[in-house]
Amino acid sequence: IAPSKSETEEIIQNNLDYTLFSWSKQKGSNPIAVKYGEGVYLYDYDGKRYIDFSSGLMNVNIGHGDQRVTQAVVNQMQQVAYVTPSCVTKVRGDLGKKLAEICPGDLNKAFFTLCGATSIENAIKLARLYTGRHKILSRYQSYHGSSNGAMTASGDPRKLPVDSQQAPNFVHFDLPYAYRWEYGNENLLKDSIASLERIIAYEGPANIAAILLEGQSGSSGCFMYPQGYLKAVREICNKHGILLIIDEVMSGFGRTGKWFGFEHHGIVPDMIAMAKGLTCGYLPFGCLMVSDKIAARYDDNVLALGLTYSAHPVSCAAALEVLNIYEEDNLIENAKEMGEYLDQRIEEMKLKHPSIGDWRNQGLLGCMELVKNRKTKEPFAPFNAKPDEMVVMNKVAAKIKELGMYTFVRWGFIFIAPPLIVTKDQIDEGLELISEALKIADAEVV
Ligand code: PLP
Repeated sequence: IAPSKSETEEIIQNNLDYTLFSWSKQKGSNPIAVKYGEGVYLYDYDGKRYIDFSSGLMNVNIGHGDQRVTQAVVNQMQQVAYVTPSCVTKVRGDLGKKLAEICPGDLNKAFFTLCGATSIENAIKLARLYTGRHKILSRYQSYHGSSNGAMTASGDPRKLPVDSQQAPNFVHFDLPYAYRWEYGNENLLKDSIASLERIIAYEGPANIAAILLEGQSGSSGCFMYPQGYLKAVREICNKHGILLIIDEVMSGFGRTGKWFGFEHHGIVPDMIAMAKGLTCGYLPFGCLMVSDKIAARYDDNVLALGLTYSAHPVSCAAALEVLNIYEEDNLIENAKEMGEYLDQRIEEMKLKHPSIGDWRNQGLLGCMELVKNRKTKEPFAPFNAKPDEMVVMNKVAAKIKELGMYTFVRWGFIFIAPPLIVTKDQIDEGLELISEALKIADAEVV
């Protein structure tokens, strides 16, 4: 007789037997089976509660189980679930108008996509069409999605297993991060801008369609831009007629304490790629926001972009409601306030935990870098560590989960990016669990 299994075990087994898992070896996956979510918490089928300290994949900004979104989705479904992108709906127009209000400058036209990667692919395509140039410049230690163009543009270890599939005409530049740069912050700004200018000269400015950068670095390690960096990049773009595409897929929609990450740097890009917090994961969706100047070119020319599910009415309805919730519930202000509280609490934790090497955060998009030794800054997991090589980090991650937390742990990093509804008590609750798990890393400090 087969041993009786708990409902949770059976659900997990079905998933392991019949589905594939992203970015991991298939054997040894140990997923949480989520029955439902409420606020900052997820619950499994056995009733165990997990505090979600990374808002899913830094996308569920309004928290789980918000019935206002469910209702908006159901209402739209009952009217019409799908129309082709050549038809229009009230929600599509209302959402476009709302996004134009939120976005600065003349970023007033929305092309709706399906996710982050499709926003990036369409941004790359449109930049090339508009400028008639072919090269895209982007940063090492960045992430823009897993489709071919977006993955090639990315610059973190996730692209290395598919290195042979790189798309042509992408060039990378380096922006070292302050924690691992020994020559002072002012020098970091000067040196990295000079290096970017040299690369542009070598590649030929007239060949470069766009520079693509995250509004605020996210899943590669939350590396902060030196103050003045994005402004200098904007000026370089202006000088050479290069478009500036800002990827706000992760940093957008309040995550950093402002609507968009780039707003901390006083610039206005030519295009914004969006997804994640636009619908907060209630439905898949994305958007490429384009300046009036770029859009005007297509008043009398064909815009060669298209997706069957562009401007999907039900996703538009979810996004509209989500945008209302950010405003109604003052979530962007809360992200800023809770981010400051989180920074303060982590400064206290540093005194107790020698394994915390660095803490980088803006609003609620934060990352703790663990090191074996604060002086040498030797990481617990090297760049491009394979899952098996992350011995200590894997133990820390397993402990975090056992204690009742879901959060994103990768390489030598623990990401902390709870939903923007989080309270001080919930931050304390989460940090207590992380503190307990950090004892494993502390014991390995040399
Ligand atoms: N851009 C950034 C900055 C991201 O963080 C991500 C996903 O994590 C993407 C693009 C890709 O988004 P998606 O996974 O929805 O394709």
